[in-house]
Order: sequence, then structure tokens, then C-alpha cells
Amino acid sequence: MKVPFLDLKAQYHSISEEVDVALHQVIGATAFSGGPFVTRFEEQFAAFCRCKYAIGVGSGTEALWLALLASGIGQGDEVITVPNTFIATVEAISLCGATPVFVDVDEQSYTMNPHLLEAAITPRTKAVIPVHLYGQMADMDPIMDIAKRHGLLVIEDACQAHGAEYRGRPAGSIGDAGCFSFYPGKNLGAYGEAGGVVTNQPELEQRIRKLRDHGQSRKYFHEMIGVNSRMDGLQGAVLGVKLRHLPDWNEARRRNAELYRTYLNGVDGLILPQEMDYAKHIYHIFAVRVPNRDAFMNELTQQDIGCGIHYPVPVHLQEAYAFMGMPKGSFPVAEQCADETVSLPMFPELSQEQIELVADVIIRYFRHCAFRQGDAAAKMGRANQGAALAIR
Ligand SMILES: *Cc1c(COP(=O)(O)O)cnc(C)c1O
Repeated sequence: MKVPFLDLKAQYHSISEEVDVALHQVIGATAFSGGPFVTRFEEQFAAFCRCKYAIGVGSGTEALWLALLASGIGQGDEVITVPNTFIATVEAISLCGATPVFVDVDEQSYTMNPHLLEAAITPRTKAVIPVHLYGQMADMDPIMDIAKRHGLLVIEDACQAHGAEYRGRPAGSIGDAGCFSFYPGKNLGAYGEAGGVVTNQPELEQRIRKLRDHGQSRKYFHEMIGVNSRMDGLQGAVLGVKLRHLPDWNEARRRNAELYRTYLNGVDGLILPQEMDYAKHIYHIFAVRVPNRDAFMNELTQQDIGCGIHYPVPVHLQEAYAFMGMPKGSFPVAEQCADETVSLPMFPELSQEQIELVADVIIRYFRHCAFRQGDAAAKMGRANQGAALAIR
């Protein structure tokens, strides 16, 4: 039996009738760019995030970029985020002309360590972007406290956290704005590229809405310089259908995570993801940590089990950011995560049988390692004895 890392076809088969009807409605109405299907999805997604407004845009990257631009972030400003994220978080800062500043992450949650935040603030700091990595929110209370005290904006990178919660509050609803990606592989994925921003602030909403459409609110009357980042009508319709299923899909992911835990708890050398006491984790990614990653991934691959690394190189060590001159060792926790994490298969349609198989392969792999290490230790012991004898 093969266990894929992700199975988007299984999901399409479960909702194909609804999706096909919705797509044909868009085509029938030729409502391809923006339009009523996008507007309806925006209303539904705002309600889902318990926010006043949602603005559909072209991608998660553009959601972050436009949220920063609309907040007036630009040249000479500093924006604080974390190095263990998808590069888009940091690109959005750079694309505004601002300077990214990193703080390391917490060892348990892999999200921004609030204890390190204050030391990174300078007179030029304008905003903080906590990243809700893998489907678990950053520790928002202390982050919001510090941001308020220093007059900083907080933009949540919720691109991996559709439906995640912090002390009962949904991702995207705590900061000044929340940015989402609807890339196909995300918990809520379009059938192409799409993204969205949620906010409770009407001025921010108005500015993002204009920026995504060439700075106009009336056709050909441009109040500011913007871009084309309108959401496709087809994507709005697909997302509207899929949003209805998202709570069930997130619950299925949580059940799958519990099954992994049941089978893998206590495996020596394997570190499982932790759900923090403040969090409702929605397991976009189920990332474990292992000491000898290449061998571990080889074994999974040989057994036809899909796996991945999120992410192999932290952003401060990427070639694209080499010009900032941040050496290895700058953010030890993020760097250790980059060296040790492996993402196991995780999607709602994953079966108990498949999870059992993955767990079985992992348990046998670690047993084999322990055996080999024991064997090596025994040999070393004999060699040492020999050496001791020779010295004597
Ligand atoms: C996916 C993702 C993005 C970018 O979203 P796109 O839709 O691919 O542009 C940004 N930040 C994080 C954390 C992501 O996972």
C-alpha cells in the first residue's frame, strides 16, 4: 500500500458534484475576475474567521504584501518575523521596501518566542508578523501585549492556519489583519492560486480592496498606485463550496494526529508535535523531529510513504537573504528544526490503516536503529577492553 504525502484527488472525489455545479455557474455567468462568487466567499470567510471583513486576493504572498502596504509599511521600516517559515512571509516585507528582522522560535511550538521579541524592537520597528506554523497559532497574548506597548501593528501569517484557534479565538482575528493562502495544498485550498486578508478595521479593508485593484474603487479612477491581485471567480466559487467542509476536514486532521500519537508516543528518539495548552492545532503539517533525517526519510521513501521537509533552510540562511549577513548560529532553534523535521502524510482522507502502516514502518525503523546502536556500543566496549588490556 502506498501512502501519499497529500491526496488532493481523494478530496475532489468526495465533493465533485458540488464543485462541478459551482464551476459551471461561474462559467455560465462569465464572472471570471472578482464578481459575485468572490464577494459571497469573502462574506462567508469573514464570518468563519469571526472578522468584519475579508478581501480575496491573488495569493497568500500578495495577502501579506498588500496588508503591509495598506498599513503604510515601507522603506526605512523594520518588520519582525521568524526565520523558520515559508520565504513568502519575508518576501512580503522586502517587497514593501522594509527590512525583515528575525527572532527565534519556541522549542515546543516552533512559533515566535515572545521572550525574544522585545529585544528585537528598535525605533524603526513598525510591525510584527507571527507565523502560525503547521496549523498551530503563535502565543498571541504576550505578542499582542508587547506590540501594544510599543505601538506596533500585528499582521498574522495565517497561511497554514484556516480554522486554528488561540484560547478559542480564530486565526486571523487577533492582530490588525490576518493573511491566508488558498494554495491548493493548504487546509482550505483553491483550484489554482488565491489568498485572502481578514480584518476588523474599515480603513485597512478599504485600502487593501483598492490596492488589489489598481488603486481604484470606481473603474478607471485611480486614487493610489496598486496592483492586479483580484481573486478569480472560479476560485471564489470553489472556496465557497470547500469552506462548508473545512470544519469537518480540520476535525479529521485532528483525529489523524491523535492516531499518530497513539501509535508513536514513547518511540525513543522521535519528537512528536505538541499541541500547546492555548491552541487548537489544525495540523496543516504533521512534523516530527528525528536525529538522523536522511536515513529516516530514505526508509519512508523505500516503503512508499510520502514525506517532506518544511523547511530545509531557514530564511536567514537562504541565498536570497545572504546579503543580510546573518551567519549560521544566529537562530539556533530554527536551525535545529530545519535540520531535524520531517513532515509525515497528513490530510483529512488519510485512513486509519494508512496511519498504522506509517507508524509501523517508523517503529520498526527506530527498533532497528536502537539494535544497531546497541551493537555498535557493544563492539566499542570490546575494543575499549582490548585497548585497556594492551595498555596494561
Ligand atoms: C503558503 C504560505 C505563504 C504563501 O502563500 P501563497 O498562496 O503560496 O503565495 C505564506 N506564508 C506561509 C507560512 C505559507 O505557508
